[in-house]
Amino acid sequence: MKHKRILTVILALSVALISCVAPQTKRVELSDEMVLEETKKQSVIALQSLMDDWTLVRRVSYPILSTATSYCGEKVRASFGIYFANQRAFPKVFRETAAELYGMDDALRITQVVPGTSAERAGLRQGDVLVSVDGQEFPTGDQAMKEADELLRNRLKAGESVSLTISRAGAERTVSVIPETICDYPVIPTPGDRVNAFADGRRIGVERGMLRFVDNEQELAMVISHELSHNAMGHLNAKKTNYMLGTIFDIVGAVYGVNTQGLFGKLAAQRFSKEFEAEADYVSLYIMAQAGLHIEDAPKFWRRMAVAHPGNIKASHASSHPSTPERFLALEKTVEEIKKKQAANLPLEPEYKK
Ligand SMILES: [Zn+2]
Repeated sequence: MKHKRILTVILALSVALISCVAPQTKRVELSDEMVLEETKKQSVIALQSLMDDWTLVRRVSYPILSTATSYCGEKVRASFGIYFANQRAFPKVFRETAAELYGMDDALRITQVVPGTSAERAGLRQGDVLVSVDGQEFPTGDQAMKEADELLRNRLKAGESVSLTISRAGAERTVSVIPETICDYPVIPTPGDRVNAFADGRRIGVERGMLRFVDNEQELAMVISHELSHNAMGHLNAKKTNYMLGTIFDIVGAVYGVNTQGLFGKLAAQRFSKEFEAEADYVSLYIMAQAGLHIEDAPKFWRRMAVAHPGNIKASHASSHPSTPERFLALEKTVEEIKKKQAANLPLEPEYKK
């Protein structure tokens, strides 16, 4: 009884409060049609922005993945430089927009042709429908991404030409492409606003916050090379993480929708040791130099990150990164070491312990 009275009083107070703060001006009138129209517009912008992130990350990472193969051991695969998807590969919320914007349906379509690859030289284009490879038809439908990945893993061998049939504007054409070897560590833009990137032994995640933080593609290349080094140098015991990654592998078909935030969050808890961080810095500069990328600004970039986002660094695996001054100086020294080798025309290989 007493409770009921209290509840009544609270209710009465809430009503009074609500009526107190109610807006006093007339609400702008909007039709359902207008709202729907605007919703569609925003969905298009959101999807385009998501695709821009994927395109950027793949364009920047591909040359690194193809240069670093000597570090990647058996974790390599053959690729001729395309990425593809069908409608099912997109998160549900974007499927309708993907159909309208990119003509996505059950069939696999090329979403990106990496510059400088065999695919580009063969004249392949974004939007081409994948028909067959060496006469074997590409799958369609729900499992198409996963099955096509298996098909390509089986068929492609580095240096051996394959014939690829695509359909463009209703007409089929067959081109021949020559795959090359790249490191088998897909690089994935992940949701989240932290200035962070991760390596899990199988792939590399770059958070959206990091994509916004980097000033240019060189800086993004540094981040990716650093994470690739963690993977390539075996800093993360792959076995240990296998079970955690099991579930994510099931959804990897939905390449565009993989929400790895939780997963990477777990991994972030497994901190790398300072020694491993220093090694990732060291090896990543060699990988970048081998890829013909500019390394002089690397130390400044890591310094900028540490200074601008100390909180984020602490919250992530990066908390075990060497302290800023130490890290900066070590990077500067490595740049010097590499420059000397370049000037003397020596092979660009890291110095290993005797
Ligand atoms: Zn690291």
